[in-house]
Amino acid sequence: MELIDLRSDTVTKPTPEMRQAMASAEVGDDVYEEDPTVKRLETLGAEMIGKEAALFVPSGTMGNQIAAMTYLTRGDEVILEAESHIFYYEVGGLALLSGAQACPLPGRRGFMEPELITQAIREDNIHFPRTGLLCLENTHNRAGGAVLTPEQTKKMAEAAQKHGIPVHLDGARIFNAAIALGIDVRELTAPVDSVMFCLSKGLGAPVGSLLAGSKSFIAKARKNRKVLGGGLRQSGVLAAAGLIALEKMVARLAEDHDHARLLAEGLANIPGLTINPDEFSTNILILSLEKLPLTAAEFVQLLKEHGVLAGAVSETAIRFVTHKDVNKQQIKEALRIIEQLVNGLNRKTRV
Ligand SMILES: *Cc1c(COP(=O)(O)O)cnc(C)c1O
Repeated sequence: MELIDLRSDTVTKPTPEMRQAMASAEVGDDVYEEDPTVKRLETLGAEMIGKEAALFVPSGTMGNQIAAMTYLTRGDEVILEAESHIFYYEVGGLALLSGAQACPLPGRRGFMEPELITQAIREDNIHFPRTGLLCLENTHNRAGGAVLTPEQTKKMAEAAQKHGIPVHLDGARIFNAAIALGIDVRELTAPVDSVMFCLSKGLGAPVGSLLAGSKSFIAKARKNRKVLGGGLRQSGVLAAAGLIALEKMVARLAEDHDHARLLAEGLANIPGLTINPDEFSTNILILSLEKLPLTAAEFVQLLKEHGVLAGAVSETAIRFVTHKDVNKQQIKEALRIIEQLVNGLNRKTRV
């Protein structure tokens, strides 16, 4: 049985073209800044994302944490959204690596009210930590791939920048946001000081992310990458795939969004499942199972036994992520399997 893997867009495999490019990549020692393929990727990435410079990093987590280390000094406070990846999923890295404490704020679909941000900024007082950074996330993972608009981004960023506080954007899926809005990604990144985006998710590269910002920021970030052990040698073999991700894989994200829409509409029609398709505009769906007589983890297990992989995000909700390695036919097949399983559960409950 071939599994339909909707756990994450991180499961995407490199394309044959990426494999070819990796095999023939021109390489050098990138710690000496002598890898021409890494340089090409960093130059193209910086240009596409609208920043002066970029740094190739092994993962999105490392990119975000390097950004934090570059801005912060020990004892600083970081304002971020309470469900954000940096707060929720990065293993306490802010505390561990930057010696910083988090000030998590409630958000609505990734948006924090600018007044809340203003209130959270610390005054100059002998008792207070220094507010050293504001972090934003677009698309917002735990909010179901929710998109922040350029206006929302600007409002939040300005609340911090007015007080001289820099803004980092966790843009792991920033190209999904740009495609969903039908705008140039640079409109979404212009208001922030730095941005991290992943090549290894919907864009299909096997490894890697880029951290982008001003030239002086990236020069400091390069040193922080080294201290984390992220200074790689002939990493052009990886960057070669990343170049194809940026050149050839961005526009096709629209297809993933169409598939997510198809899946959401199909799920909405299954009695017992709760989902509002209008809440999702990118490649992530959150499905509520509150009306079913089993936990999210049990439902995920049941789905797996029938050939569909998803992830539990809470006791009562599961997540589906569409990506290039699941086609329309497989989406329809997944819907058929889910409908059959849910109908079976509904029958059992009635008896
Ligand atoms: C996946 C993800 C990351 C981290 O990327 P890794 O490459 O898995 O470390 C950061 N932020 C968000 C919002 C993500 O979804």
